[in-house]
Amino acid sequence: VSSAGPVLAARRLRARYGGFVALDGVDLDVPAGWVTAVVGPNGAGKSTLFHCLAGTLRPVRGRVLLDGRDITRLPAHARTRLGVARSFQELAVFPSLTVAENVRVGAEQGRVGDPGAVERALALFGLAGPVRELPAAGLPTGTLRRVELARAYAGDPRVLLLDEPAAGLDTAEVTALARILRALAADGTALLVVEHDLDLVAGLADVVHVMAAGRIVASGPPDRVLEAAP
Ligand code: ADP
Ligand code: MG
Repeated sequence: VSSAGPVLAARRLRARYGGFVALDGVDLDVPAGWVTAVVGPNGAGKSTLFHCLAGTLRPVRGRVLLDGRDITRLPAHARTRLGVARSFQELAVFPSLTVAENVRVGAEQGRVGDPGAVERALALFGLAGPVRELPAAGLPTGTLRRVELARAYAGDPRVLLLDEPAAGLDTAEVTALARILRALAADGTALLVVEHDLDLVAGLADVVHVMAAGRIVASGPPDRVLEAAP
């Protein structure tokens, strides 16, 4: 199903916490085959945008579209089923399940749920060795982050939403992560990355959107946008 339009899109999104407007008319396209990054200072509204796209926060105005279909009123699990997968900034693996079992949960929650998808995800994220049978509890942060990404990817998502995927990783792990994410995009997955690490964004993103005070204030290729970023 190829379509000229973006896989995921936000249209005029507005979100509030009580009387505080955290998103103030955000338009965003997340195209297939691209890594789209959202950067900006603390409090800009990045995570709020992320929650509206993932379905964990209902906007007070505006729409979220998946392949042109309005999914604004769908809860998070229904979006996951349709191919909107996400990772969590605070790691959200099941500690008592093994690495492979965690990834299997992701496959079951996603679009496809076949065993081949689990094996592909484990292999892609370097988890196909003996580590696959270890319980997630006690694994180092870098490994857990790969488990989290493999879990999200195992459901064969159309779009992968990643909130600070480099948090807690060392330089070598960030480099490895960037290579995997580029490969996913090259394979046709749409990626949206909300990230503090501007070095990662510079080396990874096809397009960068800068947020400030609930709005997108600049957009363009990373080399042009990041030097002007606040
Ligand atoms: P970012 O991810 O860019 O740091 P957030 O989307 O988390 O920004 O927050 C945007 C604004 O909304 C900030 O001013 C923040 O304090 C406020 N905010 C975020 N979450 C809540 C909440 N649950 N209740 C009240 N205000 C919130
Ligand atoms: Mg945030």
